[in-house]
Amino acid sequence: MTPSPRVLTAEAAQVGADLDGWLRAGGGQGLARAIAAPDRIIPILEEAGLRGLGGAGFPTHRKWRAVAGQPPLAGQGKWIICNGNEDEPGTFKDRYLLSNTPHQVIEGALIGALAVGANQIALYVNPGEPVSLRVVREAVQAWQGHPLLAAVGQAMGAPLQLHVTPGSGLYVGGEETAAVASVMGGFPFPSLKPPFPAEQGVHGAPTLVNNIETFAHVPHILRHGAAWYQALGRGAAAGTKLYSLSGDVMRPGLHELPMGTSLRELIFQHGGGMLAGRAFKAVFTGGPSNTLLTAGDLDVALDFDSVRERGSRLGTGAMIVVGEGTSVLRKTAEYVAFFANNSCGQCSSCKIGTRQISRILERIDGGAGRRTDLQALENLARLLPGSGRCGLVDGAATVLASSLSTFRQEYERALDA
Ligand code: NAD
Repeated sequence: MTPSPRVLTAEAAQVGADLDGWLRAGGGQGLARAIAAPDRIIPILEEAGLRGLGGAGFPTHRKWRAVAGQPPLAGQGKWIICNGNEDEPGTFKDRYLLSNTPHQVIEGALIGALAVGANQIALYVNPGEPVSLRVVREAVQAWQGHPLLAAVGQAMGAPLQLHVTPGSGLYVGGEETAAVASVMGGFPFPSLKPPFPAEQGVHGAPTLVNNIETFAHVPHILRHGAAWYQALGRGAAAGTKLYSLSGDVMRPGLHELPMGTSLRELIFQHGGGMLAGRAFKAVFTGGPSNTLLTAGDLDVALDFDSVRERGSRLGTGAMIVVGEGTSVLRKTAEYVAFFANNSCGQCSSCKIGTRQISRILERIDGGAGRRTDLQALENLARLLPGSGRCGLVDGAATVLASSLSTFRQEYERALDA
């Protein structure tokens, strides 16, 4: 098996809330460099090629520069939200980081505060993950009163506040504008962008919202340098990635691998191959809201650009593998039901559209479908994208369209049964 570098999941860094343990493992060195040269932070992230790992792959330096360029809001300053609301089917990386190694996330956020001039940091955690929440609370406690935190405040000329903010427990609360609403104590309704949180976020203040995994990479990049980070990736991709592998594979779980590792290597080497010798059929990628990858895509490099070239998206790096014997129609019905149950109900096309797709899929899968159902599904898949304030309805429509066009015979068989 190809040896893979472990950065976020390195044994020595798995110290839970123990701050001294983290510092002994090399923690604090990236922060010290950031304190010594705050103006260098964003250029280093740019040279490193760090991209947002919550799913969109937006260049981190561009977002940080956007927040840094905004004036602080009187009485509020600027905010940072470390987005740990993770709740997408098949994605289980942020809960791992928060439960096992929260200090690299907090240190990354402190470096972010120095870079953009933020004075408030909210660690926004899915309340359905009680271990994450407990460990993060203990970890933040360990920073309070620590000389390193005081040094950051001193470098910024004002004290820095760390908050632990449990989310609402709703999936949609992970969408960044919904996260902003939630941190302000409201219901996590997504809102239209622009304005981006970078311009107008918590209480109207410029707000840097990044995923937990993105922040976790930052101290390592500051400590070891941009060239080191670049070299960790394969091809043009930089760094490592946490892939959440699940479904019909021998070794499901979290795999930290070079960004750009092929889907074949992930499944057949690190994942131990298909369950019980079943033939590979497809992968629901990045949270099941994208175009499916199939056998012809096994050699795709799992990085943002390469997966996009195949017409799909890397998203969170979740790969839900389906083998012969598992129904893509059934899985699609389950994922669309998840989206329907998690629509916030604000946009009627999403509230009604996801529910309607779900009803039709259940009817077909249950053997009571009608021929005209296929046309109804095709129409919905065409009409719904772009009709909501956030990407939830697009996700449901995309996975439907993909599964219907690529595995149409499964739908036909269910109709003929
Ligand atoms: P997006 O493409 O709208 O935005 C990406 C990021 O770039 C955002 O933070 C946005 O504010 C920022 N941005 C874009 N233009 C900007 C500008 N001009 N100035 C400043 N900032 C700018 O994507 P998104 O809706 O934030 O995220 C979509 C992804 O989230 C999907 O790929 C999906 O896989 C993922 N997702 C993850 C989970 C989870 O549980 N982890 C759940 C749902 C969705």
